[in-house]
Amino acid sequence: MLDIRGVRKSFRKPDGSELLVLDGIDFTLGEGEIIGLLGRSGSGKSTLLRSIAGLTPPSAGSVIYHGNEVTAPPPGIAMVFQGFALFPWLTVLENVQLGLEALGLSTGELHRRAIEAIDLIGLDGFESAYPRELSGGMRQRVGFARALVVHPNILLMDEPFSALDVLTAETLRTDFLDLWSEGQLPIKGVILVTHNIEEAVLMCDRILIFGSNPGRILNEIKVELPHPRARLDPAFRDLVERI
Ligand code: ADP
Ligand code: MG
Repeated sequence: MLDIRGVRKSFRKPDGSELLVLDGIDFTLGEGEIIGLLGRSGSGKSTLLRSIAGLTPPSAGSVIYHGNEVTAPPPGIAMVFQGFALFPWLTVLENVQLGLEALGLSTGELHRRAIEAIDLIGLDGFESAYPRELSGGMRQRVGFARALVVHPNILLMDEPFSALDVLTAETLRTDFLDLWSEGQLPIKGVILVTHNIEEAVLMCDRILIFGSNPGRILNEIKVELPHPRARLDPAFRDLVERI
């Protein structure tokens, strides 16, 4: 579904020298998979996600999505951000509808799709609220709704739970896994960036361990479970808490 091939990225520093941030990243996201990118802050995880999303071109290598090289944001890939990235002057409904603007839908269809995404993520009744009136967890639900409303194939998540308190993060993760394992989400694959090893084990089928300076994949861990619902099993969650 998504092929990351030899992606390198360097930035030019103010003194003119090059800062190599990503040094040859290779992996494939298959259908039905949640892949975790686990690494320290500054290791290049966000840079890699932005390259996959078509927001930052790699210096070398390529991102292939359904057989085509990604050179601009493709319609089938959506992103959820750590800082929610909502517009404070827009309501929940308007923030979610923004995700659909490029699709050229009728007003009625725009509304219907936004309400569907808002309901799916547990925000019904909050359509006309403004972000400042919502808790952090609710704001990130808006972030999820805005990404899901386009019915993406692939969801990229850049530390979506790390600005939330521990309990709220846990609720959001569980709600997400619940929808995912029940096949209720319009997505076929996920890349989750995190620096939290428990979160990676709880949520991901494969974890790519990311080393820093420059960012590269050092190792891969497979988390094999008997069935998707097993991620929600209290026994599994107990085990993970002991990491
Ligand atoms: P992570 O998400 O793992 O914390 P980032 O991808 O945000 O890491 O950053 C990796 C490195 O790349 C950091 O040293 C950061 O300062 C640098 N970097 C990221 N974006 C830019 C940019 N647009 N220009 C220059 N340096 C950047
Ligand atoms: Mg980051």
